[in-house]
Amino acid sequence: MTLALILSNQKIKVTIVDKNSKKNLSKFKDKRTSAISQGSTRLLKNIGIWEKIKKNAQPINKIKVSEGLNGFKINFNSHSLNEGPLGFIVDNQFLKKIFFEKINDSIYVDFIDDFEIKEIRQNENNASIYSNKGKFNAQLLVGADGRYSKMRYFANIKSFFHDYKQVAFVFSIIHDKPHNSSAIEIFFPSGPLALLPMLNKKRNESSVVWTVEAYKKNELLNSNNFKKEFIKNYANVFGNIKKISKPVIYNLNIFSCYEYFKKRTVLIGDACQAIHPIAGQGLNLGFRDALQLGKVLIESKNLGLDLGSHSILNDYTLKRLVDKNLLVQATHRLNKLFSNNSFLMRKFRDTGLRIFNKSDFLKRQSMLFAMGLRNFDF
Ligand SMILES: Cc1cc2nc3c(=O)[nH]c(=O)nc-3n(C[C@H](O)[C@H](O)[C@H](O)COP(=O)(O)OP(=O)(O)OC[C@H]3O[C@@H](n4cnc5c(N)ncnc54)[C@H](O)[C@@H]3O)c2cc1C
Repeated sequence: MTLALILSNQKIKVTIVDKNSKKNLSKFKDKRTSAISQGSTRLLKNIGIWEKIKKNAQPINKIKVSEGLNGFKINFNSHSLNEGPLGFIVDNQFLKKIFFEKINDSIYVDFIDDFEIKEIRQNENNASIYSNKGKFNAQLLVGADGRYSKMRYFANIKSFFHDYKQVAFVFSIIHDKPHNSSAIEIFFPSGPLALLPMLNKKRNESSVVWTVEAYKKNELLNSNNFKKEFIKNYANVFGNIKKISKPVIYNLNIFSCYEYFKKRTVLIGDACQAIHPIAGQGLNLGFRDALQLGKVLIESKNLGLDLGSHSILNDYTLKRLVDKNLLVQATHRLNKLFSNNSFLMRKFRDTGLRIFNKSDFLKRQSMLFAMGLRNFDF
């Protein structure tokens, strides 16, 4: 939808096809919130939807990272940079609603729902999708169909896959003390626990992403142990918990494509790289894919070039290579690094965090990177 809006702003016609019905998509219950980086908000502003989203977005001004409950702590503060909040927490359902409204208003975007892809065929001149709704031709096909992408399969684009054997419990909590726009991330050997501040004028609320080893999932859910175990890890960061919502569970794995396009099909977002949520960066990375692909396509259209040509998609690939690889590698290795509970690794992490915390340069650079303000255009 992001790419479609970028292109439609330049009067380029786009057809979006989705396997779900419009009704299901707009009602879809996504209990997650997304940490949207400062860089992504600038993109959303350009496509004309940030002002609406901002009304329901909670700014993040501080991020506190620690290893376990007694380990070393690092604090990141937005005041140390001059770029506004470090990011914003937005309710996914609300985010999708705003996108849908904008898509529905655009005369350059068609939306076909209940769509089932049967096959794709690609040749020198164009690409075709065969589906339950008939055959469609285009210069370019963009696979933006998420982690378990069918387009990836049909285009025969190979990917690296790893199952983290972890699950993320996603839920929200109402707590005693205000969060003061702080996000907390505590690394445990079983996985990270993230508390993300939510905008709630009446109560103190945070959204939680609690990662644990997959084998503990049933034990936690069956024995009614969930709240007790969570409270142990939460360690009263924002005071007593008054209410805890029912968790939604996500299996955690990584898909990372070796190629970003084949013939006239290019993959963006989770279809191309679906990463661990440890750093809350997947959606931001997908936004940047859409932005860069949009730029390359608009330039090419203005020059009257074939939008599905090898040279254009190659240009896009080169522009996205560093940013994507950095985040895929960083999230994968970060999760591995903190999941290791050996004495030596604990010492290594502790020393690393102390050195990191002493270096204002490293802290500034990593904040700018996480905020999506480090430019990787080439
Ligand atoms: C627990 C958790 C927390 C996260 N938190 C954050 C965060 O704080 N910040 C952040 O940046 N990222 C976060 N992420 C990652 C983020 O959710 C994803 O990166 C993002 O949703 C990917 O968007 P997408 O549009 O590429 O794919 P999706 O959101 O998966 O959308 C895919 C679309 O394709 C459609 N589709 C699927 N299959 C087909 C098909 N066969 N035919 C047609 N249509 C199809 C679907 O209906 C859907 O509309 C988190 C992820 C998890 C699991």
